[in-house]
Amino acid sequence: MKSVLVTGGAGFLGSHLCERLLDLGARVTCLDNFYTGSHSNVAHLVRRNGFCIVEQCVAQKAFGEFDEIYNLASPASPPHYQADPIYTFKTNIIGTMNMLELARRCDAKILQASTSEIYGDPLVHPQREDYWGNVNTTGIRSCYDEGKRGAETLVYDYQRTYGLNVRLVRIFNTYGPGMNPEDGRVVSNFITQALRGEDLTIYGDGLQTRSFCYRDDLIEGMIRLMDAPDTVSFPVNIGNPTEFTVKELAELVLELTESSSRLVNMPLPQDDPLQRCPDISRAKKYLDWQPEVQLREGLLKSIAYFRQFIVPAESKSAPASKVEFRS
Ligand code: NAD
Ligand code: UDP
Repeated sequence: MKSVLVTGGAGFLGSHLCERLLDLGARVTCLDNFYTGSHSNVAHLVRRNGFCIVEQCVAQKAFGEFDEIYNLASPASPPHYQADPIYTFKTNIIGTMNMLELARRCDAKILQASTSEIYGDPLVHPQREDYWGNVNTTGIRSCYDEGKRGAETLVYDYQRTYGLNVRLVRIFNTYGPGMNPEDGRVVSNFITQALRGEDLTIYGDGLQTRSFCYRDDLIEGMIRLMDAPDTVSFPVNIGNPTEFTVKELAELVLELTESSSRLVNMPLPQDDPLQRCPDISRAKKYLDWQPEVQLREGLLKSIAYFRQFIVPAESKSAPASKVEFRS
């Protein structure tokens, strides 16, 4: 039975990763400080054999013997990572260094959760892993983008210096059941707005693009990457290469929720990337991976999940959801 540490294991992706790893027979330790994660995400795992939670910051020294470490700890949604940018940067730099040190002590394999944000506002399309990106170092997204870029640098410096066994996944916009309805990302915003009958808030003209990957596809890709031969230590994009404008996403959400909400335009946030789409040739070649769930199907599953948080109009005074975000 292998022993696996998942940092950020109480978050949206981390909690599903913990569940999949338990299903595969691993012993799983979830390390999380519940900054954006929640106890309710992992409540159903606490009763399972081989699962435990360590409540601490990823930047504090961690103990234990692990065969594998998945390092996911970091706020991920723009409103969350921008709420305390210095915290975000420290979590990604000091936290990643701390996990690399732990991997060294345990002789563990480590997988770093990186992001399509390291490509910034890309000048190359679709984005291949050998593209170095176009990132503002001083803007409001920089704490996250540069934090993740610095973390990538650390991963490969530890590999070169100490021979550490590393993996690095660049995750493109991933959504699905289990997202915090108040998370602030576009899929959760649009679905909850449509279900509540509120206006859907399109930032800018809505012609910017994203490629949306369903949660389970992403988790499958991450596990395949961890299990891949040690030679697969280079960055690998995991995402769905079908590209949509934000406006197309809004229209699809309206159709699938049968909502009569309106689309309204709001100011585009600074440095918001204009287009984003992964080239997944590496994932196909080295992991035999490609996404199985397309947007329509994934949105229907997500809509069913989000419906439980929607308070009917007649009892509007009750809280719509429990937000466990601490800034
Ligand atoms: P999330 O906010 O739901 O989860 C992040 C988790 O990290 C939370 O449980 C949070 O409490 C925890 N965390 C934050 N700071 C911490 C700290 N200092 N110490 C310990 N735990 C801490 O976000 P998510 O969507 O599940 O993202 C998980 C990872 O995947 C992140 O590293 C994120 O950058 C990466 N990622 C996600 C996406 C996506 O579309 N979901 C895209 C690219 C990259
Ligand atoms: N967006 C939007 N309305 C919202 C939330 C986001 O139009 O209510 C846009 C945002 O400006 C960006 C895209 O949707 O262009 C994806 O935003 P998200 O925060 O989900 O992730 P990002 O890819 O920007 O990190």
